[in-house]
Amino acid sequence: MKSLDQKVILITGAGMGLGLATAKEAAARGAKLVLVDYNEEALQQAKAEITKEQAGAAVVIVKADTSKEEEVKNYVNVAIKEFGQIDGFYNNAGIEGKQAPLIEYDLDIFRKVVDINLMGVYYGLRYILPHMKEKGYGRVVNVASVGGIRGVMNQTPYVATKHAVTGITKNVALEYGQFGITANAIAPGAILTPMVAGAFKQVNPQDPKAAEAEYAKANPTKRLGKPEEVAKVVCFLLSEDCSYVSGQVIAIDGGQSNSY
Ligand code: NAD
Repeated sequence: MKSLDQKVILITGAGMGLGLATAKEAAARGAKLVLVDYNEEALQQAKAEITKEQAGAAVVIVKADTSKEEEVKNYVNVAIKEFGQIDGFYNNAGIEGKQAPLIEYDLDIFRKVVDINLMGVYYGLRYILPHMKEKGYGRVVNVASVGGIRGVMNQTPYVATKHAVTGITKNVALEYGQFGITANAIAPGAILTPMVAGAFKQVNPQDPKAAEAEYAKANPTKRLGKPEEVAKVVCFLLSEDCSYVSGQVIAIDGGQSNSY
C-alpha cells in the first residue's frame, strides 16, 4: 500500500517551490490533496501538473491568503466539505521579506512577514487542529528554516518568525499528542525554489548565479538542496509511520547547520 493512501493532505503555499514538490510526492503516494495559495494562476498550474502526472488524483484548490483569518477558516471549511477530514497539514506558506540590517528594516515589510510567517501558521493550526482532535489522528508539519534555529544576516523578521514556528511546533506536540496528533517542523537550508532564486538576486543583483555558487561552497555537499529532497522527508512526517516522532525540528540542509 502507498504510504499516504487515501490520506487527506492540506498544503499551503502549494503553487510552487517546496509546497508544489510535496504535493506531487504526496499524490504519488496516494494522497487526496487540498492545495492552498494566494496565487490562483500558480494553483491552477499546480493542479494541472499533478493530475497529468497522477491520472485520477483527487485535487481541490482553494485561493486564500494565509495571513487572513477568514480566508483560513474558508480553506478549512472547503477541505472538510470536500473530504470530511484533514489527516495531514503541511503548514508551508511563507515569505522571506526584504534583506536589510535590523535598525533599517522597513516596518511595513516586517509586519507583513509576521502576518504571513507567524499568524498565518497559527491560524491554520487554530482551525485544523479541532478536526484532527475530533478524529483522534493528525500529522502536522510546520515549515521553519535554518533561520528558525540560528541567525541569518539581514533577515530579522524572517529569523524571528521562523524561531516562533519552531516554538509553536513544540507546543502543538505537547498539547495535542494525547489526541493522536504528531507535530514536527522542518528547517530547510538553501533549497533551489523561486524564493531562494529571489534571495540570490537580492544578494548579488548583477550576478545571482555567483551568489548561488558562493553559498553552495559553504555546504558540506557543495550544492544546494532540491525541493524533491525536502518533499520525501515531509511525506514521511505526514504519514502514519511518523507515530512517535513529535515536537522535533528537522534540518534538511546537507548538514550545514552543524558548522559555524
Ligand atoms: P516560494 O516563494 O518558492 O513558494 C511559496 C509559495 O507560497 C508561493 O506559491 C506563494 O504564492 C505562496 N504564498 C506565500 N505567502 C502566501 C500567503 N500568505 N498565502 C497563500 N500563499 C502564500 O517559497 P519556497 O522556497 O517554496 O518556501 C516555502 C516555505 O519554505 C516558506 O515558509 C519558506 O520560508 C520556507 N523555507 C524555504 C527554504 C528554501 O530554501 N527554499 C529554506 C527555508 C525555509
